Amino acid sequence: MMAVRPSLARAVRIAAIALVCLSIGQSRQPLQAQNPPFDLLIKNGHVIDARNGVDAIMDVAIAAGKIAQVAANIPVDRARTVADATGLFVTPGLIDIHAHVFWGHDAESQYSDGYSAVQPDSHSFRAGQTTLVDVGGSGWRSFPRFKEQVIDRSRTRVLAFLNIVGAGMRGGPVEQNLSDMDAKLTAMRAREHKNLVVGVKVAHYAGPEWDPVTRAVQAGREADIPVMVDFGGHTPPLSLDDLLLKHLRPGDILTHTYAHVGGRTPIVDGEGRLRPFVLEARKRGIIFDAGHGGGSFLFSQAVPATKQGFYPDVISTDLHIGSMNGGMKDILNTMSKFLILGMPLKDVVKANTARAAEVIKRTDLGHLAVGAEADVAVLRVVQGNFGFIDSGGGKMPGDRKLECELTIKAGQVVWDLNGISRPLWSAMPRPPQ
Ligand SMILES: [Zn+2]
Repeated sequence: MMAVRPSLARAVRIAAIALVCLSIGQSRQPLQAQNPPFDLLIKNGHVIDARNGVDAIMDVAIAAGKIAQVAANIPVDRARTVADATGLFVTPGLIDIHAHVFWGHDAESQYSDGYSAVQPDSHSFRAGQTTLVDVGGSGWRSFPRFKEQVIDRSRTRVLAFLNIVGAGMRGGPVEQNLSDMDAKLTAMRAREHKNLVVGVKVAHYAGPEWDPVTRAVQAGREADIPVMVDFGGHTPPLSLDDLLLKHLRPGDILTHTYAHVGGRTPIVDGEGRLRPFVLEARKRGIIFDAGHGGGSFLFSQAVPATKQGFYPDVISTDLHIGSMNGGMKDILNTMSKFLILGMPLKDVVKANTARAAEVIKRTDLGHLAVGAEADVAVLRVVQGNFGFIDSGGGKMPGDRKLECELTIKAGQVVWDLNGISRPLWSAMPRPPQ
């Protein structure tokens, strides 16, 4: 009998081990058909899809980057990859309607090609976000640079509210320049990039005039998009009541809802009562966005407001280099605060999916209908002893917190915290020896 050469023996041994490992892998993940119709199947998760009225244990199947089927008990052999989402919540990819992602290297600038904004992909997927909306980093003049430098280079879907200031959010006197606030040119740029520009932003103006708001509303009307206002700091102060009831249109957005900052009337008065005009504004169709940020969310406002039933329409972050390392942290931490404040999970999820999409008039996003782009987040509600910090530094204890297990963008897994979509390492093909 011929002796088996050592290298051949080793190859046979490796092949045998690989087969055994493969069968172990298959016992955890059943054998797949030759050409299964789905690329990815998310099994046994609790699906929350407010737009389509789904709030139940369901499977979600994805093929060619789109949602292919949402149903109970889809067989595992119909997909190439199966992710077990037992005990987890499956939601549309989260949308953050207030972020600052026009990052760059202009030392003279802040949130417009500057150091205070952050890179989208560094923050989005790990928090279940598939869409980030930069609000006001760019204006009509700087948008082309923002598109080239950030939007076109990000895997995250990046959309924009154009600043009514043509130069964008560069800080200092640039944002006080009324002669650079042109409604017509802002609307023209918005229409030119209809698929990317979803609103107009007003922020940081310190003068006594209403002109920035008036011109932003005019641009919004011409381009058929909403206006978001970061209000306050006017000398003398302008009336929040007038802003919400007279100047803005239904569908326009007040951000920093639970702020208590100099120069802006807080929504809750000194006796803890929600001001009546705030309710009137909501009835009129004004959208209230959390816009947490580094200085715009106080429990002293949010606790009495939410006790009176005043929850936000949308729970955005106001993500930038200051807020991400402060009390805000990320969108899941911000959403968790509203869970702790008594907002039901399905409403918290709706705020940042179906509702957020409606607010920016992008109803192609924020849901899991068959044929929609497969942007999905798989979230875990973790129980424990946690603390949530507001922008004044005050802490609220809490017993629950959201974490992101899996994020899928256009059908691709872009974040997988614990490898729920991955085979065991021992079942992986070996590199050639
Ligand atoms: Zn902001």
